[in-house]
Amino acid sequence: MKLADDPEVFRDELADWLEANAPRSLWNTVSTPFQGHWGGRNCAFPSPDHKLWFERCVALGWTAPHWPSEYGGADMPTSHYRVFREALSSRGLPMPLVGTGLTMIGPILLAEGNDAQKAEHLPKIASGEIRWCQGYSEPGAGSDLANLQCKAVLDGDEYVVNGQKIWTSHADKSDWIFCLVRTKFDGKKQGGISFLLFDMNTPGITVRPIQLISGASPFCEVFFEDVRVPASNRVGAENDGWRVAKALLAHERGMVGESIAAGGARLPELQAYNVREHALEVFGKDATGRLADASIRERVVQSEMDQALARITVRRVNEGLKAGQSSGPVSSTLKILGTELNQRRWELGVEIAGPDGLGWSGDAFSDRDRALARQWLRSKGNTIEGGSSEVQRNIIARMLGLPKGA
Ligand SMILES: Cc1cc2nc3c(=O)[nH]c(=O)nc-3n(C[C@H](O)[C@H](O)[C@H](O)COP(=O)(O)OP(=O)(O)OC[C@H]3O[C@@H](n4cnc5c(N)ncnc54)[C@H](O)[C@@H]3O)c2cc1C
Repeated sequence: MKLADDPEVFRDELADWLEANAPRSLWNTVSTPFQGHWGGRNCAFPSPDHKLWFERCVALGWTAPHWPSEYGGADMPTSHYRVFREALSSRGLPMPLVGTGLTMIGPILLAEGNDAQKAEHLPKIASGEIRWCQGYSEPGAGSDLANLQCKAVLDGDEYVVNGQKIWTSHADKSDWIFCLVRTKFDGKKQGGISFLLFDMNTPGITVRPIQLISGASPFCEVFFEDVRVPASNRVGAENDGWRVAKALLAHERGMVGESIAAGGARLPELQAYNVREHALEVFGKDATGRLADASIRERVVQSEMDQALARITVRRVNEGLKAGQSSGPVSSTLKILGTELNQRRWELGVEIAGPDGLGWSGDAFSDRDRALARQWLRSKGNTIEGGSSEVQRNIIARMLGLPKGA
């Protein structure tokens, strides 16, 4: 499809295209542009319409619209990509594809991968064929990530990997992993790390899901025993993986902050959740038509204002980055902003629900209220995943040149 040069003309063309091609049953079903299909060998579409929507977008390169068309994208300029996301978001349509492939390893391969790696992996990400997970954290290496001990020893043209990862989100559902391994055992710890890609079906990999307080098992322990990985699957030079890893973390933190600031919920029961509508439903309106409970009203307004400001800030930051401004501690700042905002939002949701918001199981609670309790608990992890808030504050302080210690 030839795109109009002017983003506003494209907006109109896209509106017509969505009218004709986005299945009606999917309209107004999600509340942010970050919810959608995760792809992968084991994927199942929630409905035939979800599949149809995905296939229509893949055909146009619109699962990764801003990527080069040779890798399954649509060469969409950033201005048009923003229009695309706004158009889906304002209609409550799910993104055709979401996940770590698109937001983390894809951008890193575009920047750091060699031609063979780009040709091999990017089209499979854009087509939703392969789902990726992130093998960074280990039992003794979370905030102090450079302390990682999972080792890879070169044997001919293969690495032999032994060790353990932990908190690996969706490792049980993913097809490939991007993994930090130790390839040098002396000297500065950051200088002995390499960045490897491998198939989760490789012999020697064991995955064990971990059950969370929210009742879900979104992440796993992953064990490697003599896992053989072709040396050609290394991104960047041997022992230069720390640089690649940090670049990826900046994408992750920016994405986590941005997606969470957009107000997302992972649970299907809450995908169209709106704090204001919920409050109106519970408390009703006063004689002037306002939300009846004054203190909740104030907090709903504050929550919506914070959300709107976060969205504008994300947009301003992105525009600045595109215009060549230095990124500085931007991804850490966005991560803190988005995650803390999100925690306040779900806290408010649970308070609005009152005793119903503590529902865990049983018919006495609605599906939404049970989901609310789980989402509230899940949000506790937001200020840990992708690097804790304390660590983000350390990064910001360092970049601002603030003195060490309080
Ligand atoms: C929902 C979720 C999903 C995740 N998904 C993945 C994934 O897919 N892949 C992956 O590799 N990892 C993943 N993680 C792991 C995550 O990156 C780590 O949990 C995080 O980096 C913190 O490490 P840790 O858990 O070892 O805590 P620790 O590093 O042990 O930290 C414990 C506490 O000490 C504080 N602390 C530590 N060091 C400092 C310091 N220098 N200054 C001040 N305070 C400090 C921390 O802020 C924290 O409060 C996920 C985590 C969560 C919660």
